[in-house]
Amino acid sequence: MFEKFEHANLSELHFHVDESTQLQSIIAIHSTTRGPALGGCRCVEYASDDDAINDVVRLAKGMSYKAALADVPQGGGKAVIIKPPTINDRNALYQSFGKFVDSLGGRYITAVDSGTLLSDMDQVHLATQYVSGCTDDGCDPSPITALGVFCGIKAALRHQRGTSSLENIHIAIQGLGNVGFALAELLHKAGASLTVSDLDIRKQQLCEQRFNATSVAPEEIYHVPCDVFSPCGLGAILNDNTIPQLTCDIIAGSANNQLLELRHGDALHKKNILYAPDYVINAGGLIQVSLGLKHINQQDIFKKTTHIGNTLQRIFERSKTDNVSTHIIADGLAEDILQLKH
Ligand code: NAD
Repeated sequence: MFEKFEHANLSELHFHVDESTQLQSIIAIHSTTRGPALGGCRCVEYASDDDAINDVVRLAKGMSYKAALADVPQGGGKAVIIKPPTINDRNALYQSFGKFVDSLGGRYITAVDSGTLLSDMDQVHLATQYVSGCTDDGCDPSPITALGVFCGIKAALRHQRGTSSLENIHIAIQGLGNVGFALAELLHKAGASLTVSDLDIRKQQLCEQRFNATSVAPEEIYHVPCDVFSPCGLGAILNDNTIPQLTCDIIAGSANNQLLELRHGDALHKKNILYAPDYVINAGGLIQVSLGLKHINQQDIFKKTTHIGNTLQRIFERSKTDNVSTHIIADGLAEDILQLKH
């Protein structure tokens, strides 16, 4: 177990079980040096306890790196709830999780993530103040995440094409959820043409009607001839199977942990595909949640989010000059800020 700590530079790992509400939860705190650890709570099924531990540790570390490069005063943390096959009382489960969060005295602040809803955070809020992104607190992260990805795509176009204009640019979006759909709207308004894919055909149809998009089946999205591939669905989709299919020269989307393994970032670099590191381009939601907690006005949140484009530009330039993959440059910059060993 302590090897995991050392490997990830982790500072705390907390386990909590409450049989009366079916809660089995783990909270990982990677770092609190820049502020309280902030990161969402996932509620998903895991094949084993070890899988859940590895997931929460990896995600908490990612949040520290994300907060450092987004320049928000937070450390990195994450929570998982091991999803029971059927949840008997959803409200009780999240209230119990709220008590667990509260027991850490504010060193960890929670928010929504895969498998959790703003309404679940309302239940968490009944038990703790250390939560952001409830129904009525105006801190819904998804629209701002989409804005950050939009700015990141423009920065990537500027780097590859010398102009950030979206006119005549073809973008393939995988996943039309909270972020993907909002991104499609921004891109359509800016003049891009869209090919989209989602497991839910109704979301595709809505994109066809509203944004004049073309839909393709989920397995076809990788080989759509396009300028930009924007993964906004799930992680690990850049791998040995998908990379050879890609025809784009830019990958820029919101999904977390897009690279199956770090070597896949190098494979993209070798193919001259510019990859916008996921935790840099998708930091808008973190900015919203972090600054929202401090009641910073929405205009300043927008401003900080648009700055994601400048951070990416720096990473792209360094990658070109040093001939090193963008994900390695990003990690190096974050580790410098966090004063971690490279
Ligand atoms: P969501 O659950 O609302 O949407 C995900 C969408 O992807 C769903 O519509 C789902 O049907 C679709 N999908 C799943 N598998 C697919 C496949 N194989 N092919 C095509 N579509 C598929 O999630 P979201 O909030 O929009 O987040 C999207 C991604 O961005 C996630 O990886 C999330 O972790 C990441 N992210 C989200 C935020 C945020 O603010 N919501 C912030 C940072 C990162």
